[in-house]
Amino acid sequence: MATYREDIFDKYISPRKVRAWKEKRPYYIDWELTTKCPHTCKFCFSNSDANPNPQYMPKEKVFEVLDDLATLGFCQIYWDGGESLLHPDFFEILAYASHVGIGCGAFSGGLPLTRSMSKKVVEAYQKRYLNVFGIHIDSINPEVFARLHSNPKELSARIQGYKNLLEAGFLRERILPCITLTGPAAEAIEETIDWYVDEMGARFVEMSVFKPMGSGSIKRALEPSLSDVKRAFEYRAKKFNSPNWARMGSTECTTIQCRTNVYLTVDGLVMRCGQMPREMASGNVYQQRFYDIYQQHKETISMRDISVKGKCAQCENNDICVGCRAAALHYTGDLAGPDPKCWLNPEAQEKYLA
Ligand code: SF4
Ligand code: SF4
Repeated sequence: MATYREDIFDKYISPRKVRAWKEKRPYYIDWELTTKCPHTCKFCFSNSDANPNPQYMPKEKVFEVLDDLATLGFCQIYWDGGESLLHPDFFEILAYASHVGIGCGAFSGGLPLTRSMSKKVVEAYQKRYLNVFGIHIDSINPEVFARLHSNPKELSARIQGYKNLLEAGFLRERILPCITLTGPAAEAIEETIDWYVDEMGARFVEMSVFKPMGSGSIKRALEPSLSDVKRAFEYRAKKFNSPNWARMGSTECTTIQCRTNVYLTVDGLVMRCGQMPREMASGNVYQQRFYDIYQQHKETISMRDISVKGKCAQCENNDICVGCRAAALHYTGDLAGPDPKCWLNPEAQEKYLA
């Protein structure tokens, strides 16, 4: 079993983040720079896999929003996709984010991480333009991977991208592996977590529970069961010798992140969270400054307008969790309901979509 000097969970609830949450200030933004993506994940919630005409947010608009984020006191950006590495101005954008005092993490499915791209990523890390890098490979088991991707052959190339990044010198403990927890991925979850930790040296593995939206909305069979989620979360908590990871139902985020986070889509929509329906956006940065949208809608964006019901309203884990609102919405239609994918919620069903 892996044991570490420091419980990585502490980073998710650092005093700076908790202070932002208590003072109702923003902290994080997840931001789609482009929908361009070479990967073939069947569950993509941003539809990047099915997009023949990828969009890119223009650099001038990105810089304008970065200025507003700095004014509002945001501290951390996660560049989501699509593949942010494939935005033509990505490294210039990282430099500007650093210039305005905001930390950055980026995510990749692995294919763009050629040797030369990996060197550029490492250089950005050394300049402190990046503080973490996420690798998204959902299963190391080839048979499971083939069920989750239109092109099963990309598994070995994605692993090679991860290895290229390590060989270029990116610190293995600053790489954040990410899994979308679908039913198929859950079948081999122990094998996948073991590989990330024991072979690749990861200190943590993020698991985001599948929601039926985007390209994944028509793939009802991808829903993980309640038992799948419980087994996966408990295995990870045991692997990292950290029971906190089994105290958060189906979310990865903690209440602290969920309530201090904003999501920005490539077409300008300002959202509570990337896993909410796009019709629920609070505004569009192509029509209004981000600063004004945030100031006008911060109660909604930070989900402080929701009165959570059921088990999630009174749970022994409320110091870090009030359930995933996106899971509640997608699986039961009730944004405020108890988390339907948490095994601690007595109302939760084994499956909803079957
Ligand atoms: S019941 Fe709700 S609040 Fe409690 S751990 Fe589960 S999701 Fe979190
Ligand atoms: S609604 Fe769920 S996925 Fe979205 S930020 Fe909150 S916990 Fe995370």
